[in-house]
Amino acid sequence: MPESDKIITIDGPAGSGKGTVARMVALEKGYSYLDTGAMYRTIALAVREKKINLENESEINRVLNETKIKTEYNENTGLNIYLNNTDVSEKIRTPEISKLSSDIARIKIVREFLVKLQREIGLKGKIVVEGRDMGTYVFPGAKNKFYLDATAEERANRRYRQLKEKSKREVQTYEEVLNEIKTRDKQDMERKESPLHPALNAVIIDTTSLTPSEVVVKILESTEAA
Ligand code: C5P
Repeated sequence: MPESDKIITIDGPAGSGKGTVARMVALEKGYSYLDTGAMYRTIALAVREKKINLENESEINRVLNETKIKTEYNENTGLNIYLNNTDVSEKIRTPEISKLSSDIARIKIVREFLVKLQREIGLKGKIVVEGRDMGTYVFPGAKNKFYLDATAEERANRRYRQLKEKSKREVQTYEEVLNEIKTRDKQDMERKESPLHPALNAVIIDTTSLTPSEVVVKILESTEAA
């Protein structure tokens, strides 16, 4: 199998369904799975724990050098992510870390550090990778590229329901989630380093009125036809 066939990239904004869909595609195809957003979130957590100012590049660099990230995906237990051997899978999913991860994702040295790691993992092959710049920048040679999108309102609805289900109470109102999604979209799409946009040869899927299984069918049909 050529190198370019062994990586399936799935990009898109927050709440577009890419995480759920990427895991389902990986399972169907017997591929491994990498959530690159979780990597940005983990760096954000490390930066917050050390109370580092985002303007201070040498301090950020120090954190990167001291940071060991490991991601582990198991179809039964889900995705586990470790920061220097501590499981931070839950801690990185708060609204505060969502915002901070988008702030630190604008910093060039952070992106360089994570892109290198992502390419090392990706080169092992047979993997579904999801994020914002998988098809455009990290794996431009991949043959099967997808970009999932949905209206901001539908994406906010999904996030709101997820957050409420998980914590069994209202952590944020729907309006707060919608505002956060719109702010993060703007920041991710307008930044200088690897802004979010579909790769030229990506298949764009509007998931607004589709179930995750319906999106998976479309992706599998398209990868088989490729
Ligand atoms: O996908 P998720 O919402 O977990 O990503 C958190 C943040 O990490 C995004 O808002 C984005 O700023 C950043 N990110 C990125 N490039 C990626 C994956 C995530 O810039 N490949």
